[in-house]
Amino acid sequence: MIIATAVRRHKKNKTQKLINGFIFTDVPQFVTSRLGRPQLRLKGYRFCESSSFGPKVNWRCTRQPRGCRARITTVDNCIVRQEDNHNH
Ligand SMILES: [Zn+2]
Repeated sequence: MIIATAVRRHKKNKTQKLINGFIFTDVPQFVTSRLGRPQLRLKGYRFCESSSFGPKVNWRCTRQPRGCRARITTVDNCIVRQEDNHNH
C-alpha cells in the first residue's frame, strides 16, 4: 500500500510538471494575451474573443486557424454554451 501511494504521488507530480504549473480546471480563467486581447482559459485550452453582444461573449479556440471547431459562449463571465470538439 505504501508503494502504491508513492507511485500515485509521483505520477501526480509528473503531471503537474508536464503542464508547467497550469492547473486544469472547469472554471474559466479570463486572462489577457501578450497582444493585450482578452482570452479565456479552460481545461488547458485557450480561446480568444470572436464577438460580443453586451454581456454575451462568443469565444473560439485559438487553434481555429488549424481547423479546431471548439467554441464557448459566456454571459457575465459564466459559460452558457460549450462545444468541446477540439481536434488537438
Ligand atoms: Zn481547440
